[in-house]
Amino acid sequence: MRYSAFRLFLEGLQGQSGWKPVWRDAAPQASYDYVIVGGGGHGLATAHYLAKVYKKARIAVLEKGWIGGGNVGRNTTIIRSNYLLDGNEPLYEFSLKLWEGLEQDLNYNAMVSQRGILNLCHSDVQRDAYRRRGNAMILNGADAELLDQDQVREMAPFLDFENARFPIKGGLLQRRGGTVRHDAVAWGYARSADSHGVDIIQNCEVTGFRIENGAIRGLETGRGYIGTKKIGVAVAGSSSRVMAMAGLRLPIESHVLQAFVSEGLKPLIPGVITFGAGHFYISQSDKGGLVFGGDIDGYNSYAQRGNLPVVVDVLEGGMALMPMIGRARLLRMWGGIMDMSMDGSPVIDRTPIDGLYFNGGWCYGGFKATPASGYAFAHLLATDMPHETATQLRLDRFRTGALIDEKGAGAQPNLH
Ligand SMILES: Cc1cc2nc3c(=O)[nH]c(=O)nc-3n(C[C@H](O)[C@H](O)[C@H](O)COP(=O)(O)OP(=O)(O)OC[C@H]3O[C@@H](n4cnc5c(N)ncnc54)[C@H](O)[C@@H]3O)c2cc1C
Repeated sequence: MRYSAFRLFLEGLQGQSGWKPVWRDAAPQASYDYVIVGGGGHGLATAHYLAKVYKKARIAVLEKGWIGGGNVGRNTTIIRSNYLLDGNEPLYEFSLKLWEGLEQDLNYNAMVSQRGILNLCHSDVQRDAYRRRGNAMILNGADAELLDQDQVREMAPFLDFENARFPIKGGLLQRRGGTVRHDAVAWGYARSADSHGVDIIQNCEVTGFRIENGAIRGLETGRGYIGTKKIGVAVAGSSSRVMAMAGLRLPIESHVLQAFVSEGLKPLIPGVITFGAGHFYISQSDKGGLVFGGDIDGYNSYAQRGNLPVVVDVLEGGMALMPMIGRARLLRMWGGIMDMSMDGSPVIDRTPIDGLYFNGGWCYGGFKATPASGYAFAHLLATDMPHETATQLRLDRFRTGALIDEKGAGAQPNLH
């Protein structure tokens, strides 16, 4: 069923009786050509591009819970491509371009809103670093503008510009950045993948891999054995646990990241704003809630809920940046499991096991990467070659030392 204004009008006349389920409730088949493990944003996007762009068939997505129950439905919805390094920026810029055409591609309203992202700087040194980052972005085909204090003041007069410890000196603005309705991304990709023949199988946990002579033969699931020769794993915060079933140890840790939403307020925050002197970022949802977050909790965990010290840290960041936030009431908060890699950058690569492919280590940046990650992973699965935007996202970089350490922070997950 194609969605359109005409269809909306027609359904209004017919008492909304004609809408169909957005995807089929598929039962697992005995075998598939491609199995994607993980029905989050990355797994569903992979299935969509594998079927639509690479014209592959007999594809299944296996999800242990329900579509949208993982980080794809838990994040703070920010999209941007303001990265510094050549290993990262081309993929994130490719992603932003795919976001720009996503709703037409999927025929689904994902509420892509390019309302801009502003990274604030609080010292001359930080301004220089942002100038360098902005130039790197422009060289990779992205947009970037360096704003002085007056220009920032015009955009966001409510910020605390004269804070004695963190005075605001200016900011790096990417106008094409913004927000996207996160769970609509999962539903949109699921709907499109399904319409291209992909079986989306929920409540189907992968519990083991069958490997013979170093090659994949199939997988064990809570709903029985499924034969296949190609498996793409995209399970985000569960990466280490799932890949351990294939005997692989990853340079990835799992941590909790929390998100917060205030009561609905009148329009206030013009786009996405990030604090440069601490870890705090904020935007305003279309319903009016202030949506914000900060650092990971900083200890290994598979719990989808966080602890108080980080709540205090995030709120301190908010108060330092915009003291008026102290008058807003917090409505909801939750946690998601983050797959933090040791250089802060992701992996899209083959593994030493023939037919087993891995996509993970997305850290804070996985939502914005969803379209390009899915595209590049589909490319790898279909052609056995890395996509041109993902050639450096290799698993062996942790052995060879070719790290993609955006922040220069070393192997310390909470600093990436
Ligand atoms: C609070 C929070 C805020 C964030 N904010 C942003 C942001 O603003 N911008 C941004 O770019 N990124 C953000 N992120 C990061 C981003 O959400 C993630 O990096 C990204 O969503 C991960 O990819 P995914 O969507 O595929 O993950 P998920 O949606 O978590 O998908 C993985 C799926 O794998 C399934 N799975 C796990 N194990 C198995 C198994 N054994 N068998 C079958 N299925 C399995 C899980 O159930 C899950 O549904 C945020 C994350 C959190 C938690």
